[in-house]
Amino acid sequence: MDFQGIIEEIYATVKQSENKGTVASYIPELSKVNPEKFGICLLDINQKSYFAGDAEESFSIQSISKVLTLVQALSIVGEDLWKRVGVEPSGDPFNFLSLLELEKGIPRNPLINAGALVVCDILVSHLKNPKEDFLHFVRALANDKTIDYDKKVALSEKRTGFRNAAAANLLKSFGNIHNDVDAVLDFYFHQCSLAMSCKQLTKTFFLFANHGQCTQLHKFLQPSQAKRINAIMLSCGFYDEAGEFSFKVGLPGKSGVGGGIVAIHPDKYCIATWSPGLNHKGNSSLGMQVLEQFTTKTGLSIF
Ligand code: GLU
Repeated sequence: MDFQGIIEEIYATVKQSENKGTVASYIPELSKVNPEKFGICLLDINQKSYFAGDAEESFSIQSISKVLTLVQALSIVGEDLWKRVGVEPSGDPFNFLSLLELEKGIPRNPLINAGALVVCDILVSHLKNPKEDFLHFVRALANDKTIDYDKKVALSEKRTGFRNAAAANLLKSFGNIHNDVDAVLDFYFHQCSLAMSCKQLTKTFFLFANHGQCTQLHKFLQPSQAKRINAIMLSCGFYDEAGEFSFKVGLPGKSGVGGGIVAIHPDKYCIATWSPGLNHKGNSSLGMQVLEQFTTKTGLSIF
């Protein structure tokens, strides 16, 4: 299949879209990003890469990082993790609090903020230097030592992350945060500030297309764990638009408020898009259009 031709064609068409969305501003540093940025990268199962536009420029991956902390936490505590976090879609926005109250401090899934905070807590309990050790883990996963946190973004969110502080305190009141709330939040804001390009994202998420083995063929997850995380991404990876994404695109994936989306077709490819304008559900507007067109044109969705 002519992936390069298809990606270039979709890039040119979607770039003309009137429906570019709005750049997130609740984290002030994110609002400074040029809304015209737009990139696509695809890495196929044979590790051949195809890209268009700003595919090699770094951006803030935000919630996409929640999948990576989940991988590391699972590799440390295994299935015990599921005693503290569920696997059901929430159907609510990522920072919704009332569900947590209702469900007595067990977050619906690890990809909403409350669930990701519990995963952070697990890592803070088990890692000697959580921020350094997690960064090291991500670099190994991606086989790329240049990946780093964007300290400005982390600080900007730390100054304005009141809802996350509320969620962490609520979780603590239910006994589902074991460490100091500020230490967990500091780690969470750093993981969300990870900066990567579309190209780096496809390399980092390659293991989900490859049954748990990264591009260097090191085994980071058991095949059944990779399958399960793909299932969680499919049902919970797009805030309260996961059903719509599944319906229109038909791939497991994860989005972030920095405008990135990564999606996976097991055994076939991993694809990443970046356009900072978000739709009203918080997903990249152009990214959604690209992925819908891609699986429609190629017929390569999991369904
Ligand atoms: N750091 C962001 C927050 O906690 C992540 C949101 C996202 O990308 O969904 O609000």
